Amino acid sequence: MNDKSQNSFDSNVGFICDLTVVKLGKKLRILGYDVEIVKSSNMATIENVVKTKNIKKLLITKSRELARKLSGILVLSNNVSEQIEEVLSKIQSTARGNPRCSECNAELIECSKEDIVGKVPTYIFESFERFKHCPKCGKIFWEGSHFKFRGVWNLANTKDFKLRRGESK
Ligand SMILES: [Zn+2]
Repeated sequence: MNDKSQNSFDSNVGFICDLTVVKLGKKLRILGYDVEIVKSSNMATIENVVKTKNIKKLLITKSRELARKLSGILVLSNNVSEQIEEVLSKIQSTARGNPRCSECNAELIECSKEDIVGKVPTYIFESFERFKHCPKCGKIFWEGSHFKFRGVWNLANTKDFKLRRGESK
C-alpha cells in the first residue's frame, strides 16, 4: 500500500480522476495539481483517456478493477481529506504547482484586496487577506483554514450575491 517505489511518479505531471473521485480531483486542483476530471466510470472511456490524453497522468479511482488494469492509484476512504493523504502517500514527490481552479483546472492568479471590493460577500472580505482568481472562468478563491484556497465566488454572480455551492462547504 505505502510502497512508494510502486509508482515512480513525478507529481508535476498530474492526475486523471474518474467519476468516483470528482470531489478529490477538485481539491487536488486547489492544492496545485494538474488534474483532468473524467466524469465517467466506464472502463473503455477511462482507458481511452488514460492511454491517449497524456500517458504521464496517473489515474486515481475507487474502482479496484480500473486501478489494477490501468496501474492507477486506488483510494479506499470516502473522506476527501483522507483520500488526499492516500494519494500523497503513494507518489514520490509532493512537489506541486500553483493552486488551480477547482472547476476548470486553470492556474489561479493572485489579486489584491482592492481588486475584489464588492465582488465577494462582506464577511469573506473581512475574514480573509489573500485572494486569487481564475483567468478562465472568473471564480474568486480565498485562503481557507483547511485547504489553502477553499472559497469560491463566481465573478459572474456578483450582482445577485448568491454564494456558489462547492468549495465553500
Ligand atoms: Zn476556473
